[in-house]
This record gives sequence, C-alpha cells and structure tokens, in this order.
Amino acid sequence: MHPIVAAVPRQAWRQLAQRAASSSSTASSAARLSSFARQQFSTAAKRPIPSFRANSTRSYSSSSLPPPTPPRKKNPNELKFWPFLVVIALGSGGYILLANKRNGMPTLPPKKDDPAGLLAQPSKPTPTFSPDEVTVIFVLGGPGAGKGTQCANLVKDYGFTHLSAGDLLRAEQDRPGSQFGELIKDCIKNGAIVPMEVTVQLLENAMTEAINNGTNPNKKFLIDGFPRKMDQALKFEEVVCPAKFVLFYDCPEEEMERRLLERGKTSGRSDDNIQSIKKRFRTFIETSMPVVDHYEKEGRVVKITATAAPQKVYEATRNEIKKFGI
Ligand code: AMP
Repeated sequence: MHPIVAAVPRQAWRQLAQRAASSSSTASSAARLSSFARQQFSTAAKRPIPSFRANSTRSYSSSSLPPPTPPRKKNPNELKFWPFLVVIALGSGGYILLANKRNGMPTLPPKKDDPAGLLAQPSKPTPTFSPDEVTVIFVLGGPGAGKGTQCANLVKDYGFTHLSAGDLLRAEQDRPGSQFGELIKDCIKNGAIVPMEVTVQLLENAMTEAINNGTNPNKKFLIDGFPRKMDQALKFEEVVCPAKFVLFYDCPEEEMERRLLERGKTSGRSDDNIQSIKKRFRTFIETSMPVVDHYEKEGRVVKITATAAPQKVYEATRNEIKKFGI
C-alpha cells in the first residue's frame, strides 16, 4: 500500500466517499468517486503526514489529526560530516593540480659530463631486444681463461659481434669528459666490479649501435666478461635482452696466472700485475662464480675446459654450441 494511502485514516475515506455521493447524482459512478477521492488525496498529501506511531491514542478523524511534529532538536554530540567533505574536496583538487603539473614537466636534459645518458635512464618494463630477433651469448671465465681468444674465433666463423665488457669500460675510462673515468680506473686496478648501471648501459648502447649501423645484420652478440655479478645478470636480461646461454671457460688459477703475467709483459694494462691479478681471482670466485652457478641450475651453461691450447679449446667450443643450435 502506498504510504500516503496508509497514512489516511479509514474514517476519512468514508467521509470522502459520502461527500462524493452527495455532490453527484450518479453516486454509483465509481470512476467519479475515485477521481474525486484522488483530488482530495492530493490535497491531503500536501499536508505534513502526522506521525501516528508516536501517539498512543489513535485518532481516525481527519479533523482531529495531531499537530505537525515540531522540528527535531539538534544533538550537540551529533557528528558533523560537512567539514570532512570540505577536506576531501580540497585534497582531491590539490592532487589533480599536482598530477597535471607533473605531466607537463620537462624531462631532465642530458648532462654535459654524461652524454651517453648512463645516469638518466628510467626503468623499463620489457627488454629492448627480443630474444626471437637478437641472439646474446654470455662468455664467462676467470681472468686469463682465454675468453677473448675464443671470441675472436667465433666472430670469424659464425658472424657474431664481439662486445667485451672490459674493453667497453676501458674505452669509457679513457673518453675525455667521462663522469665515470676515475671510478672505472679504480675498479679495474683493484680487480673490482664496476657498478652495474654503467656496464649494462654501455653494452646496450654498443648493441644498438651495431644493429643500427648494419655491421651486425644477423643480430648475434658474444658478450665477453659479462655478467660478472648477479645484479648485472638480472638487470641485463630484464632490460636489454635475455641471453640464449652462457659459455663458461673453466681454467685452473695457476694456468690463468701464468698467462696473465706473460701478457702483462706487453699489454700495458694496469691490472696485469701480480697484486691486481690476485684481487681479480678473488672477485671472480666470490662474485662471478655465483652467476655461473645460477645459470648452471637453469641448464643454461656450456662448460668448456680451457687448459689446452687455444685451437683445441675452440674445437671443444664448436662441438658444444652445436647442441644449442648454433
Ligand atoms: P677484463 O678485460 O674482462 O679482464 O676486465 C678487466 C676489468 O674490467 C675487470 O677486472 C673489472 O674491473 C672490469 N670489468 C670487466 N667486466 C666487467 C663487468 N662485467 N662488470 C664490472 N666490471 C667489469
């Protein structure tokens, strides 16, 4: 039942019907009655609806309707919520203004002493290169294991582009105005790991250049001396390109030491001396071997014993990489 109908006492209904009957010669006309009643109701509906439930003595006479309820007294303890609305509105407005302002902000211009943009790289959700289009093979091994020599052979026979992390770092160290020159120099001399951001970015730049200048049409890269630390491995595969596998040249320390000291007679390298060599060995065992172990667990390591003469080691390399479809 409609609340208005429910609110009108039965007595009032009766009165309405009688008045309708006296006002019409055709009192039996239900249509007229109902239209009249509707008219009366609409007038009644405009009056405040009395609160019958509040009265213990019910009145069914329309003339004795109780007076309208007085306006509700304000409870001083009642929670006022309009101040909250104001705070929320102001807060939302401020946030929108700030967000719009940020959208319009210019990005940092490249720094003079960081033209390679090594510092200002935002993090990226997907790698720059897809492993479906670009082949990356990491080449690892202790210092003096013969990585460079084997890479030179692979470049000749398979058309790889050889990128040596050590060579790229030395070039950056010698580049006039490089912000990282001193840092790289110190790391190399002490056989320490250069911070990942620098190395990863130098490699990505070199890969992009090789692909763009057309010197590497089949997009195959040997990345030598990398990753030397777990953070580099994860970062490179996340932002640059997932590697196909790791070529690991395994050689005993005495043999590597002998080779490095021999090379040191002519290389002119700041780290081919016995103090630096010892530090490099320690870094390799402590920091780089965990990377090899990580990839080994994933079944992505091709291990080659590198004690024999270079040509023998190369034959072994060829046989092993065949298994990976190279
Ligand atoms: P290499 O030419 O491979 O013998 O490397 C020489 C030195 O360069 C190393 O001892 C490190 O100081 C530095 N270096 C080479 N590769 C990396 C790398 N992947 N990450 C950090 N530092 C590196």
